[in-house]
Amino acid sequence: MRMSRYFLPVLKETPREAQIVSHRLMLQAGLIKQASAGIYSWLPMGYKILKRIEQIVHEEQAKAGHLAMLMPTIQSADLWRESGRYDAYGDEMLRIKDRGGRDMLFTPTAEELVTDIFRSHVSSYKDLPLTLYQIQWKFRDETRPRFGVMRGREFLMKDGYNFDLTKEDALHAYNRHLVSYLRTYERMGLQAIPMRADSGPIGGDDTHEFLVLAETGESEVFYDSEITDLTFGDRQIDFDDKAACAAVLDEFTSRYARTDETHDEALFAQVPEERRRTARGIEVGQIFYFGTKYSDAMGATVQGPDGKPVAVHMGSHGIGVSRLLGAIIEASHDDKGIIWPEGVTPFHAGIVNLRQGDEATDAACEDLYDSLRAAGLDPLYDDRDERAGAKFGTMDLIGLPWRITVGPRGLKSGVVELTSRRTGESEELSPGDAVAKLI
Ligand code: ATP
Ligand code: MG
Ligand code: MG
Ligand code: MG
Repeated sequence: MRMSRYFLPVLKETPREAQIVSHRLMLQAGLIKQASAGIYSWLPMGYKILKRIEQIVHEEQAKAGHLAMLMPTIQSADLWRESGRYDAYGDEMLRIKDRGGRDMLFTPTAEELVTDIFRSHVSSYKDLPLTLYQIQWKFRDETRPRFGVMRGREFLMKDGYNFDLTKEDALHAYNRHLVSYLRTYERMGLQAIPMRADSGPIGGDDTHEFLVLAETGESEVFYDSEITDLTFGDRQIDFDDKAACAAVLDEFTSRYARTDETHDEALFAQVPEERRRTARGIEVGQIFYFGTKYSDAMGATVQGPDGKPVAVHMGSHGIGVSRLLGAIIEASHDDKGIIWPEGVTPFHAGIVNLRQGDEATDAACEDLYDSLRAAGLDPLYDDRDERAGAKFGTMDLIGLPWRITVGPRGLKSGVVELTSRRTGESEELSPGDAVAKLI
């Protein structure tokens, strides 16, 4: 992409409404624009990052054997009356009437609709296990929408639902989700710690939230510091292997780690004092096992091996896709701007032309731009007629992992400068070597 043809409405002023750094940087870098309280437009670069995050979620769900689908945002109240949640959900649910006076709603989550799909089409235990998921907009009329996309009213969520014959199988689905989530967050450069949580209006017994530690997080968390040494890394795992998935759950959840809702002082006191930590965290996901709560209420049964009907065991599993942009920025920025992890960066590298209009410099930039694209990378070329300082400022703000600086002086000795956004370190290389380093 050429900056001269891009739409990147970078703000010069510090937006006053932003209380936390990720919200400020997202506005300043031209990623989002508020449409109304808690509701945002995603401008081209913000949208691009959102899509990259979605892509990682899709890839990891596919590896776990879960099937992507899409359900509508506007749903009839009838299904929600069957489960009892139309009344129970409270003011967070946006209720709408259509022209015929029928009660509709903008979906805050989709247990009812997916259970209806299931009961309409699946009748035998032989069709299990099944996990369906979507990445779709949700609406919750939050009392205090704030911090930009962190607590929006309209937000993008991955929500997945497993259907299993037995509790044991459903707990395997739970573990599979835990493993796939660990991988998902790590690919985004995040450490998200599974913590024992409270199930809230979804209901159920087993549930973990995934928290990214950050001072601006809205949850208070208590944990054994040993947990921060764990990483999933690039280990291979067979998602059908129950024991292997259960072992990962044990490894990542056996140490004390709880949110304020489930915190237990007496248990916490058993953690050696020097390892006890109290901090704040951002909830970027949650997994639940809730048994037959919805299948009982809505008659989602299958014929079991003995021919008798069995209510399926279910769970639901969410990732805050749009919230993740904020969480990643909270975890990865400096006083100049955002520092995107390689996994989610909107462009792989920025090219800064220090002397726009100078024939040799322009030609070298064009060459670099073409070679990077030919190598399958996606560069952003700042070809505007701007001062070098302004171009550097924009590159630092938008946080691409690499910057290649091209100017007449360096070109005389055949070099360009390659700078890492994260370390700030630069090296002089031939343009060919710079490209080779980025591939
Ligand atoms: P919170 O405690 O932050 O209100 P929640 O527990 O109500 O979140 P879940 O029902 O668990 O949310 O939804 C799954 C994920 O969706 C959450 O882990 C979070 O990352 C994201 N999410 C929930 N509410 C919002 C929101 N208002 N804005 C952005 N993301 C959200
Ligand atoms: Mg909530
Ligand atoms: Mg919560
Ligand atoms: Mg939650």
